[in-house]
Amino acid sequence: MRLRDRIHDCFRLAADEPDGEKRRRLLTFYVAGAGFTGVEMIGELAEYVPILCKRFHIRREDVKLVDVDGLPRPVPVLPEKLSGRVERRLTKMGVEVVMNASVVGVGENFIRLKQKDTVSEHAAGTVIWTAGIESAEITADAAKEVRSAGRGRIEVDSYLRSVDHENVFVIGDNMFYTVPGEERPVPQMVENAEHSAGTAANNIAVSVTKKGSMQEYSPKFHGIMVCVGGRSQAVANATEMGAQAGDKLGVGVVTSIADSTDAAADAEGVAQAYTTVSALTVNADGVITSAQIDAVQANVKFDATGKITTDLTAAVDSQNVIGAGYGMKAASSIGKEWNEQAAAYAQYAIGKTADEVNGTAVTEGVPSDADLAASVTIHVTDFNSVITKAADSAK
Ligand SMILES: Cc1cc2nc3c(=O)[nH]c(=O)nc-3n(C[C@H](O)[C@H](O)[C@H](O)COP(=O)(O)OP(=O)(O)OC[C@H]3O[C@@H](n4cnc5c(N)ncnc54)[C@H](O)[C@@H]3O)c2cc1C
Repeated sequence: MRLRDRIHDCFRLAADEPDGEKRRRLLTFYVAGAGFTGVEMIGELAEYVPILCKRFHIRREDVKLVDVDGLPRPVPVLPEKLSGRVERRLTKMGVEVVMNASVVGVGENFIRLKQKDTVSEHAAGTVIWTAGIESAEITADAAKEVRSAGRGRIEVDSYLRSVDHENVFVIGDNMFYTVPGEERPVPQMVENAEHSAGTAANNIAVSVTKKGSMQEYSPKFHGIMVCVGGRSQAVANATEMGAQAGDKLGVGVVTSIADSTDAAADAEGVAQAYTTVSALTVNADGVITSAQIDAVQANVKFDATGKITTDLTAAVDSQNVIGAGYGMKAASSIGKEWNEQAAAYAQYAIGKTADEVNGTAVTEGVPSDADLAASVTIHVTDFNSVITKAADSAK
């Protein structure tokens, strides 16, 4: 909130500032650090700036956005190719990406950068610090007494105990541990915090009760997502699909557990959550102008004793992500994969109201009209439900 207020204040003051130099300085924003937080921060700011320019009657070219980092490329934990994409996207959004430049000083109206042996000072109204995570004071103090690394992270063994004290367990952002075979320590991210908490809880219980066995920490991370802005891309996608300025956006979700089965002595049971989702835009008359449909089928198997046999850490992808991997095409009478049929139904919905889509003729949930049945032979009952919910929720 303080940062948002600060950004607003800069635009408000700039709007009334007759001195060109002062005005430009007020509208110059530096983000120090081009890791996850830095590129997400500057990406959001780059998307917000046109809105603020409009509100405060400021020209976009008077606003300067810079992301600076001492390393050679942004988000260096990503492969080089993806770092390149991040940099190109930021540049396209009007951000100057300055790499190989360390921040060596910040004053009220400036930022000081060191590139190779040269130190230079640049006018800056706001500097946002995103150059790394610091431990909380209590951990930073503890890190002085025990073996630690990288900004007060405490080194742990595979059971998540401090390597110096077996009765001290460390988890989440405060732990420093490199999984055998990996080059880098575990990331300071939510998944690591969640996984390490379970392992440590088990190991603390074992060490207190002397029952059971200690677990080694073996996290399975699902991957990383970096959002370099998103609003403009989402709008661009919807516009490409037919949405117009002034349309409303809605999302509808339904989940069914109807296909779950009990376990028997000779067969595993399945708890299935089948979630269907639609995102769409409607115009002032309630006519759908763009639409997407997707679904996620999450199966958790268990045996007759109730023991879960599915690997709960495995990623569950949506049907549109799985695409041809789902394997419906070979069995389909029209030779179309699930995602192709969902896309065809979404396309069919465009130009109709949700009520009209719900009025589609079906036989046992499957379209009966010959034209539509040439591209959709799957059940559309849940599609109709999510389209209705999405249209109702549009705002
Ligand atoms: C801006 C930002 C964006 C992020 N985005 C993502 C993301 O998109 N995805 C992702 O996976 N991760 C993200 N992270 C990282 C993620 O938030 C952390 O990895 C995660 O929260 C770590 O969990 P934790 O429980 O170890 O620590 P925290 O969530 O930081 O929790 C520590 C808690 O301890 C409290 N505390 C501190 N000192 C004391 C004390 N002396 N006494 C009592 N309580 C104390 C703190 O107030 C805090 O509530 C982001 C982090 C930041 C800063």
